Amino acid sequence: MARGATADSGSRGRHCVSLVPYGLNQQHPNSYKDMLSAFWENHDSLGYAWRILNDGCCDGCALGTTGMRDWTMSGIHLCAVRLQLLRLNTMPAMDWRRLEDVAGLTKRSGEDLRKLGRLAVPMVRRKGDRGFRRVSWDDALSLIAERLRSLDPHRIAWYVTSRGLTNEAYYAHQKVARFIGTNHVDTSARVCHAPSTSAMMSTVGCAATTCSYSDWIGSDLIVFVGTNPANNQPVSTKYLYYAKKAGTKIFLVNPYLEPGLERYWIPSVTKSALFGTRLADDFFQIRVGGDIPFFYGVLKHLVENDWLDRDFIATRTAGWDAVEAQVKGLNWEGLEPGAGQSRAEMLRFARAFGQAKSAIIVWSMGVTQHRYGTDNVKAIVNLQLARGNVGRPHTGLMPIRGHSGVQGGAEMGAMPGAYVMGYAVNEENARRFSRPDYWGFEPPAWKGMGSTEVIAAAERGEIDALWQSGGNFLDTLPEPDRVRRALERIGLRVHQDIVLSSSILADPADTVVLLPSRTRYEQRGGGTETSSERRVIYSPEIPGPRPGEARDEWEIPVMVARQLDPERAAPAFPWKDTQDIRNEIDRVCATYKGIANLRRKGDNFQYGGARLLADRFLTPDGLGHFTAVSLPEETVPEGRFILATRRGRQFNSMVLGPVDPLNGAGRDAILMSAEDAAQLGLSAGDAVILRNELGEFHGHLKIDRVAPGSLQAYWPEVNSLLPAGRLDVSGVPDYNAIVEVLRG
Ligand code: SF4
Repeated sequence: MARGATADSGSRGRHCVSLVPYGLNQQHPNSYKDMLSAFWENHDSLGYAWRILNDGCCDGCALGTTGMRDWTMSGIHLCAVRLQLLRLNTMPAMDWRRLEDVAGLTKRSGEDLRKLGRLAVPMVRRKGDRGFRRVSWDDALSLIAERLRSLDPHRIAWYVTSRGLTNEAYYAHQKVARFIGTNHVDTSARVCHAPSTSAMMSTVGCAATTCSYSDWIGSDLIVFVGTNPANNQPVSTKYLYYAKKAGTKIFLVNPYLEPGLERYWIPSVTKSALFGTRLADDFFQIRVGGDIPFFYGVLKHLVENDWLDRDFIATRTAGWDAVEAQVKGLNWEGLEPGAGQSRAEMLRFARAFGQAKSAIIVWSMGVTQHRYGTDNVKAIVNLQLARGNVGRPHTGLMPIRGHSGVQGGAEMGAMPGAYVMGYAVNEENARRFSRPDYWGFEPPAWKGMGSTEVIAAAERGEIDALWQSGGNFLDTLPEPDRVRRALERIGLRVHQDIVLSSSILADPADTVVLLPSRTRYEQRGGGTETSSERRVIYSPEIPGPRPGEARDEWEIPVMVARQLDPERAAPAFPWKDTQDIRNEIDRVCATYKGIANLRRKGDNFQYGGARLLADRFLTPDGLGHFTAVSLPEETVPEGRFILATRRGRQFNSMVLGPVDPLNGAGRDAILMSAEDAAQLGLSAGDAVILRNELGEFHGHLKIDRVAPGSLQAYWPEVNSLLPAGRLDVSGVPDYNAIVEVLRG
């Protein structure tokens, strides 16, 4: 689609991409090949793999399923991400003796380490040891309990991955952390969407998506900002197919024209599988970090043309006058270069947006993982409030989540600022939770740190113990060398996981304990997940093999709490299985009332109903709050580029394919505009070096449709160029960097 192109007129097949069947002449994911390779990978356990797919709730992204069905459409719901993750659940245990000497493992890629098999026995490695030695569960638990008992809780931290875990596991982990006395508890959810949480809480009073996926179908307009659901939530392209059939227009606001949002071949829709589907109707190519000036420019046009919902602004919102004054004071000469879009382009967006009767804005990491992530989200909220686009059918704010545990993890209290959803960490709530009808022990009321702050504190020698359930800081955070130094200064590291990762192999400062965990499908009594649209979904226990001595995810920290202080732990953790945990969540978390009734495949409820904010906002005064955010002060020195990180054929750090099937780029690709390449005298495929004060990255040039002046390269390959200290006010790292480009 050419920039600025609009939807084709109403001829039949107007959304088709190509008459060549299956898009054989085009670059796009080959879903049939993915199915075949999943079949081959799981050929030794096909029955179990099928039961997981057919009965379990997908452990991939946060769209949410029951088996291979969902609540948005009637067709099959399955994608390559889920198939690629399947082997993590079905593969046999690794030979634990391989860990007795880690020298041969430290050079291996993350994928190679995962392929060794599931972790099956508890192990311990001490400072100076060549590797881990096998221990009994009793010895491992006693060692951890004894050490934690002797430490200052302010120097103990907890981190729980957002991939694959259940609400019950998050709740158990964070409750144990609070039982031990620390509020340094976090999930990777916050590294993704903490800016959305902080911006939405202060403006509309809730942090969750305000509408349902089904609202996409029939909305006048869906705007995707800084997000690539074709890669991260692939089945959403099927929702978009149905939305287009219902007449919905799709706009993209991004520095890169994402090929998967421009057009997609949806494998389970025959016509689309054969001829493809054009998704995007228009594209607005902002510069990296140009969100706020762009949205201010759009708002300026809305004001100048009176494309506003004045009734809504007057009756349901506060703070408009300040924003209107701010908008009127801004001039186009400042907004255009900041946004990377002309006044006319912003008018084109404003006209369609201002005249749409309903619109949904969807965003993710391209908006949040910036130094100004929170303000970026507030600028999006401003637009939706100005048009009254919340609470009505086909309208809403949607911070779309990438991982199955992102929504529930934070809501179950695996974050520094809340004991559980609705109960912020403070003295009053600490006293409330000390009552027997809550926890029966008083949790700490001091301010805890998020994971990026914890790693910085560890580098300074201020963290004595870190419990990591899943996750891999070494492969995900900026400046991996500093992350390694930080991990190797922590006296006690507990890694609870299903497979090996590079972080597990980092040298011990004193002791590293490895605890093998079960997956969600192996967990006794099943478990629940909360999807992006606030749907709490039951995933049953799936009969099948269980690796070695692995224990249920929720049970492992609880066993440590019982060893650490049996007397206090007995009433605090009376749980036998996940049903007991659901009963407790039902009692202490009003929003999750009803979770105790989820017992069978398909059981679910959507808290808050299909749409939030229909009658009032959830802020203390019941109003939606506009914010007069400042324009970002970001200058790129002459001759330098702003580098944004992108995800390719991957799913966080667990799935990493060598080629991005959406654009054909290898993992060392550096995406640059044709205009910039011509100016530098570079051609496609040239060896190129990206350099800044932190280091160098050697890659190959791919000329593509990125905004001039900006580059894109793959995460985590370029993490060594990202400055660790550049954080949004919510604590999320800025995953962008200023670099120079040299011929390789
Ligand atoms: S789109 Fe997400 S929820 Fe759906 S199958 Fe794929 S990974 Fe699972």
